[in-house]
Amino acid sequence: MAYDTNNIFAKILRGEIPCNKVYEDEFALAFHDINPQAPVHVLVIPKGDYVSMADFSASAPADLMVGFFRAVGKVADELGLVEPGYRMLANAGENAHQEVPHLHIHLFGGKPLGPMLD
Ligand code: C5P
Repeated sequence: MAYDTNNIFAKILRGEIPCNKVYEDEFALAFHDINPQAPVHVLVIPKGDYVSMADFSASAPADLMVGFFRAVGKVADELGLVEPGYRMLANAGENAHQEVPHLHIHLFGGKPLGPMLD
């Protein structure tokens, strides 16, 4: 799928739409989900034009890949999710109901979480 530069997370990255930011560095931006599904529900997105893990893993430069995953870990740590634990999830494509076509990792925490899948 071609990257849509007008998707909502691209607009957030460009500062055209506000977000409730929790972390930002040169590789990634993290913000609270507007429709939280857990007491803590944060999205971490890479700074680059990637729809999903498929194109990110195939074509992102190594420094961005490392920086992005470091940011995910850092956000989980800074939000106090590491103990007692949290969930990471990335929806990809239609079957997974990916709504926003910019790669994003959901972090859920702040309570004991239920079974992972429907
Ligand atoms: O993984 P998926 O694409 O389905 O999830 C998109 C997520 O982005 C949703 O959880 C939605 O609440 C969130 N969202 C947001 N801010 C927006 C638009 C969507 O946090 N402006």
